[in-house]
Amino acid sequence: MHNQINAKENVLSLIGNTPLIALKKLTADFVGEFYAKVEAFNPGHSAKDRIALHIIEEAERRGIIKPGDTIIETTSGNTGFSLAMISAIKGYKCILAVSSKSSPDKIDMLKTMGAQVYVCPAHVSADDSRSYYQVAKRLHEETPGSVYINQYFNELNIDAHYKTTGPEIWNQTNGAITHLVTCSGTGGTISGTARFLKEQNPDIKVIGVDAYGSVLKKYHETREFDANEIYPYRIEGLGKNLIPTATDFDSIDYYIKVTDEDSAHTARDIAKKEGLFVGYTSGAAFQAVKQLVDDDVFDENSRVVVIFPDHGSRYMSKIYSDEWMQKQGFLEDLPEMKKEQIAYIK
Ligand code: PMP
Repeated sequence: MHNQINAKENVLSLIGNTPLIALKKLTADFVGEFYAKVEAFNPGHSAKDRIALHIIEEAERRGIIKPGDTIIETTSGNTGFSLAMISAIKGYKCILAVSSKSSPDKIDMLKTMGAQVYVCPAHVSADDSRSYYQVAKRLHEETPGSVYINQYFNELNIDAHYKTTGPEIWNQTNGAITHLVTCSGTGGTISGTARFLKEQNPDIKVIGVDAYGSVLKKYHETREFDANEIYPYRIEGLGKNLIPTATDFDSIDYYIKVTDEDSAHTARDIAKKEGLFVGYTSGAAFQAVKQLVDDDVFDENSRVVVIFPDHGSRYMSKIYSDEWMQKQGFLEDLPEMKKEQIAYIK
């Protein structure tokens, strides 16, 4: 008789099927029921595992890449981490062009996973030759046997969420979901999930979360790209200074904007009240839920799903650093804050 070894072949089989977790304490005073789809449970700790795996495996199916070839992408960090993880397992080289707005932790993580990283200035226009879009494009042209993932303009980004996130949420709520609240960066998450859910029930309302300083909300409302909307903001991965074709604007009912400061404090609240250590955009997404509650959008029949895109460990030098928060003007009395929570034994 042989002992059966109960092991996974590798971490790729753990991608997707993330839990839906009821938010009880944070929503105690709200009307309706609220659930978080917690994407930090993916092995790469974010929703981007889904698109990275789907796009690479689709390229393999189509015969576009073979082991030893190079995967190239622009990324605020999460997609890069997922691509680096999958490249390590499948035997691809991985080159990543990232924004200088990305936290040093994120960049170190990408290096740790074996990727080659190019850090590009955050506050230049998308068509500037130094922008991470242009740098990735150039590297793709210069590197033979390379594939440019191009998540902002790749329909497979939407498809990954249409095939996985949407069905998971539909099944986990037994079709009872009434509202989906989710961040919009490339738009893949919101568009793919919304398309699937609205095919099941067209009455489901889909609300996109955008940042002040981004063009998405205005574009959705007017179909006009207004460069005057653009200014620097701190939240990474949310909002955009261009119009991604990976966003299906017709699948979104409306957008709501959130501030850097509110989103940072809300992320900290999620950890303290729900024991969920999630990222900056998770704070942004739940901040949007709070604003929707203030606007009386929900009633007792509402079953609201909010997607938390990634894990809090990626923001230790940002929203989870009191010093960083103070530097942004988000925390005033640093010594008092510290005294409350830390006792130094001498
Ligand atoms: N949150 C984080 C932390 C992200 O990195 C991203 C991706 N840019 C998003 C939210 C938005 O997801 P999507 O690109 O699918 O719109």
